[in-house]
Amino acid sequence: VLEIRGLHKAYGQLEVLKGVDLTARQGQVISLIGSSGSGKSTLLRCANLLEDSQQGDILFCEEAVHWRGAGHNRRPADAAQITRIRTNLSMVFQSFNLWSHMTILQNVMEAPVQVLRRDPKEVEAKARDYLEKVGIGDKANAWPAELSGGQQQRAAIARALCMEPKALLFDEPTSALDPELEQEVIRVIKALAQEGRTMVIVTHDMNLARDVSDHVIFLHQGLIEEEGAPDALFGSPKSERLRGFLSATS
Ligand code: ATP
Ligand code: MG
Repeated sequence: VLEIRGLHKAYGQLEVLKGVDLTARQGQVISLIGSSGSGKSTLLRCANLLEDSQQGDILFCEEAVHWRGAGHNRRPADAAQITRIRTNLSMVFQSFNLWSHMTILQNVMEAPVQVLRRDPKEVEAKARDYLEKVGIGDKANAWPAELSGGQQQRAAIARALCMEPKALLFDEPTSALDPELEQEVIRVIKALAQEGRTMVIVTHDMNLARDVSDHVIFLHQGLIEEEGAPDALFGSPKSERLRGFLSATS
């Protein structure tokens, strides 16, 4: 579904990604771990073209992103392709970013109706199903401010699902939450993994990474330091840096 090859990204002089590869096949869950500033969020943002990159390829469903220009002038060239990729790689952020002036149901329906121009009646039925699925079917008519953090994040996940994307990208979906609320969101993510959703998850939660992933990538200063199956990576880490990182986070 998503393939990234040799991606380079700099903010001015600051090189944040120095040639990173990532492949998420249909139904796979990939976790990205690494210390603060290692480039995890940047990689996700480059993947769905929220952020420009200077070098390397991004392929979505085997379709390579078309670029024009090079280096710091490189931009995605095809507006229709940008929209296709953004709507098919739905992001869920740490801070849920719900629109405060819309009800939960309206939040979930907004993009499918306004961006994808789907039939509002059909979207509403789907939106209600997804809210049910994440366990807040009774909150459809509530305002975001009336929900707990865990409920708001589940609403944000329902909103991402309602786009019916090919893959979901999560950027630290639980780190703004209290531990007990975190679990509600983790349960939803695990259920999505179980039903074979393609997902890339940036997380500080090593238990989550271990439980849901098919493949784990440890980023260090913009490079992949180590990657592999969760059992191998967490059970017998090879790199000194990964060992240090894991002992600091446990
Ligand atoms: P964290 O775990 O803290 O979320 P991260 O791995 O997600 O960290 P990024 O947010 O990808 O890290 O940031 C990587 C580097 O890029 C950091 O040094 C950061 O300061 C820098 N950076 C991120 N966004 C910008 C920006 N818009 N402008 C300039 N530098 C940025
Ligand atoms: Mg980040």
